[in-house]
Amino acid sequence: MDNKTNIISTFKSMSKIAVIGGGLVGSLLSVFLARKGFEVSVFDKRTDIRKAKIVAGRSINLVVADRGWKALEKAGIHDAIRQITVPVYGRMAHGTDGNQDFQQYSIDRKAIYSVSRAELNKRLIEIADDFDNVSFHFEHKCTGITEDGARASFTNNLGADVQVEADVIFGADGANSEVRNSMRDHLEKNDPDGDHEFLEEYIEHGYKELIIPPDENGKWVLDENALHIWPRKQYMLMALANLDGGFTCTLFLPFKGAFSFETLQTQDDLMALFNEVFVDAVPLMPTLKNDFFENPTSRLAIVKCTPWMYMNRVALIGDAAHAIVPFYGEGMNCGFEDCNVLNSLIDKSGTDWNTVLPQYYEARKPNADAIANLSLRNFVEMRDLVSDPDFIFRKKIEAKLQIAFPDEWIPLYSQVKFTDIPYSEAWTEGLRQDEVMKKIIAIQGIEDKWEDDSFAESVTHLI
Ligand SMILES: Cc1cc2nc3c(=O)[nH]c(=O)nc-3n(C[C@H](O)[C@H](O)[C@H](O)COP(=O)(O)OP(=O)(O)OC[C@H]3O[C@@H](n4cnc5c(N)ncnc54)[C@H](O)[C@@H]3O)c2cc1C
Repeated sequence: MDNKTNIISTFKSMSKIAVIGGGLVGSLLSVFLARKGFEVSVFDKRTDIRKAKIVAGRSINLVVADRGWKALEKAGIHDAIRQITVPVYGRMAHGTDGNQDFQQYSIDRKAIYSVSRAELNKRLIEIADDFDNVSFHFEHKCTGITEDGARASFTNNLGADVQVEADVIFGADGANSEVRNSMRDHLEKNDPDGDHEFLEEYIEHGYKELIIPPDENGKWVLDENALHIWPRKQYMLMALANLDGGFTCTLFLPFKGAFSFETLQTQDDLMALFNEVFVDAVPLMPTLKNDFFENPTSRLAIVKCTPWMYMNRVALIGDAAHAIVPFYGEGMNCGFEDCNVLNSLIDKSGTDWNTVLPQYYEARKPNADAIANLSLRNFVEMRDLVSDPDFIFRKKIEAKLQIAFPDEWIPLYSQVKFTDIPYSEAWTEGLRQDEVMKKIIAIQGIEDKWEDDSFAESVTHLI
């Protein structure tokens, strides 16, 4: 793809922009900014992922959903990304007896899309780097921003200190953001009583990548159009398809306690757990023992902070501003939506950063807080409820309500994954739906009534 002549609009006074972090969000942000004609320099502490071999088991799979696609479409790169994804139409819950139960995500068979994080990042960098006005600087580790917010400091691959001046600096450097740390330090030093708060915590669960390889013909050994899940309350295994015929699995386990990363010390410990609770997965995972002990165990961070901008010339975006647990699969989608919203605000106010950055924060903060709450809620749903008969019954009733009241009843999952209804509205609506469902489930004889033709009409007053 050649974007060299493809700049949509050029502002009279072009701003020089530094994007710290060339991950998923930083790369997409660079595409948006490049299209506006800004001079964009992207800095990342890693080596260039385009030159690195992507090692199996070290790149998680993600799902791209509606908000992510809307942002990619707005950036004009939707088709280039769609090519590297696999559609997923529902969950396949694997029972302890090995039985599989498919639960379609939406009544009209809408899909979310599985993609390798490393492949997606590679593709986004390729696209961004095609612009003449974007330059990538790998092996540049940001060590902070100056007190006036005008410069960022780096240590490069040669160990040299580098300072970069920019009109605006975006911190897209992920959950452990150095830009955020630096902002916090400046604010705490210079404005100790000001309205700022920086919360970072890790949950008690961690995760590890595992692999289900293709069969001898290069084909998927499970349905590739489902998100496979082995929900076991305190722990869970998930698998998402790759284009090469394999699946990338993510094992979520607590760090401590019975059946935890701490207690799985030997191959025998590992196989005892898998043979007991993930029994049908074991024959599909020939390299399980090796993968488990070779692949790193990673932590899951939650970041909530306020504000997201500093001196109206530094702003946080993506996980740097709002890392969330991955159980709704929305962290990247939310970060892509940040880029989309920021892009619209620049459309309105141009390079008036004093207007654009505060408006960006106001628009995104309540939604980032809401998806953080929704994601924690979905952890319970995924690990405890997808095999629970009451939960499955509720889902069936919800599908019936959605058919009867398509405008009034959009299930929470659909609001989050298949619309761009603000997360904060989805959260409020989800709580309202919980209350309505409690009343419906309490109806005498509901088990027999819900399939009657008159059912929907009989509960109209509750909807
Ligand atoms: C197990 C798991 C599953 C997930 N599943 C999904 C999913 O299905 N759907 C979804 O939408 N989201 C999902 N997420 C969340 C998603 O991965 C993140 O939200 C997304 O990667 C955030 O992108 P980012 O660019 O903000 O940060 P990152 O992807 O973390 O990128 C940050 C970049 O900054 C660079 N960097 C860091 N520090 C510095 C520094 N000091 N100097 C210079 N560069 C630096 C890093 O090298 C990296 O390239 C999942 C996350 C996990 C852990």
